[in-house]
Amino acid sequence: MSKILAANFKTNHTRASTRAYIEALDAHLDASGYKGETYIFPPATALDRFETKADIRIGAQNAYPTVKGSFTGEIGLEQLGEFGIGTILVGHSERRHILGESQAFIAQKYAWFKEQGFTIVYCIGEPLEVREAGDDAVRRYLVDQCEGIDTAYEKLILAYEPVWAIGTGRTATPELIEQTHAVIKRLSDRPLLYGGSVKPQNIADILAVPGCDGALIGTASWDVESMVSMLETA
Ligand code: PGA
Repeated sequence: MSKILAANFKTNHTRASTRAYIEALDAHLDASGYKGETYIFPPATALDRFETKADIRIGAQNAYPTVKGSFTGEIGLEQLGEFGIGTILVGHSERRHILGESQAFIAQKYAWFKEQGFTIVYCIGEPLEVREAGDDAVRRYLVDQCEGIDTAYEKLILAYEPVWAIGTGRTATPELIEQTHAVIKRLSDRPLLYGGSVKPQNIADILAVPGCDGALIGTASWDVESMVSMLETA
């Protein structure tokens, strides 16, 4: 099965640099005939309708579960619709831990975007103290992060992103990814990505993990050449 690679730009790139990135990536994917699924999550200010020859899907990093309304600082379905966006990241660790989104709110957001027929990349992953508390604690934590989530939704892509591995350069070992993916596979049979310090040097080992359907990449995806090199490996 071909792999799914997703690039999360977070708070990086402008409209101009996003356009240049997508044009360069598209030219590469088109020339190489890459057949996997590729998602790019630019910042909200860089969302657009990109005409691509290769199948590059553009998603929103975040949006509020509303068509429009009074939610200062947020964007809703009306704004996403302007650019034909039908994919969204939900439950990312930075939204849970920096922006303080609760599981109840995340579940509400998930249900609402499911209702709109969006493809949802849903992120779960334990912080370091939970990992250190042992396998049972990790399992319970991951189960709790699926509370209120329809894990059978046909447009769901799951991403396992241990918090201690995100942006830290510390990647989970293939053994740990395989073991944790087995736990998550019991909760859902939808495609499952790994995320957390994925880079050109380790992506081959990560994608070779049994039960790993792809990768959600932050830092190493921001440079288009680095992304191309990871797509070549996938
Ligand atoms: P990272 O981020 O690749 O920089 O660790 C991954 C993510 O947050 O999705």
